[in-house]
Amino acid sequence: MAAPILELKGIERSYREGEGRLTILKDAAFSLNPGEMVALVAPSGAGKSTLLHLAGLLEAPDSGEVIVGGQACGQLSDDARTAIRRNEIGFVYQFHHLLPEFSAEENIMIPQMITGMAPAEAKARAGQLLDYLRVGHRASHRPAELSGGEQQRVAIARAVANAPRILLADEPTGNLDPKTAGYVFDALEALVRQSGLAALIATHNHELAARMDRVVTLSGGKVVAWTG
Ligand code: ADP
Repeated sequence: MAAPILELKGIERSYREGEGRLTILKDAAFSLNPGEMVALVAPSGAGKSTLLHLAGLLEAPDSGEVIVGGQACGQLSDDARTAIRRNEIGFVYQFHHLLPEFSAEENIMIPQMITGMAPAEAKARAGQLLDYLRVGHRASHRPAELSGGEQQRVAIARAVANAPRILLADEPTGNLDPKTAGYVFDALEALVRQSGLAALIATHNHELAARMDRVVTLSGGKVVAWTG
């Protein structure tokens, strides 16, 4: 069996709340295998975004370890953590967060060029990804000229521009009507399946969650299997 691409061990995370502390995660553990697509379903405020931010090295746990590709990240320098985040991890949020003054294609070229890719190569990959996600015909348009579903497809393409090994998504279809959400999820799923990415996707949509390999939830500060 392949080693997990992402592991969270003994994770504690609490926030200050008035005089006391609000504990969100307590001795939480989670492991994601290459090629696996896992849904994270839990009520609002349960800690889904917190878990995704920790997994994506955007914030550090109070204690415990986040291990990416066998590498424990807690003691790494900020630069080393940033490099892992940039090369190994892609994010998709509920809102697209595309740069408004750049075209769809440029939004996908930029993260590649930040890692040193030549513009021509970055442009070619951007084009391939947009075609794959069926928005190739919108490549030269700015985000404001795209529909919500198109914006999310571009955001997905941007998330995987640097061929990460892990995709983290926080309600990626949460802003879309059910039909568009279904189409965008179809595209996301095809991309994940075809590329062998590992994905952890927070969603409120039980129908979409049921299409993934496994569904987990948060209970008592821990990540546990969802039992419906
Ligand atoms: P979800 O994504 O499941 O809606 P979150 O992870 O966003 O949940 O939040 C979990 C809880 O932690 C919420 O009660 C939220 O208010 C609180 N929280 C999240 N981030 C912070 C923060 N930076 N400071 C204080 N409280 C926070």
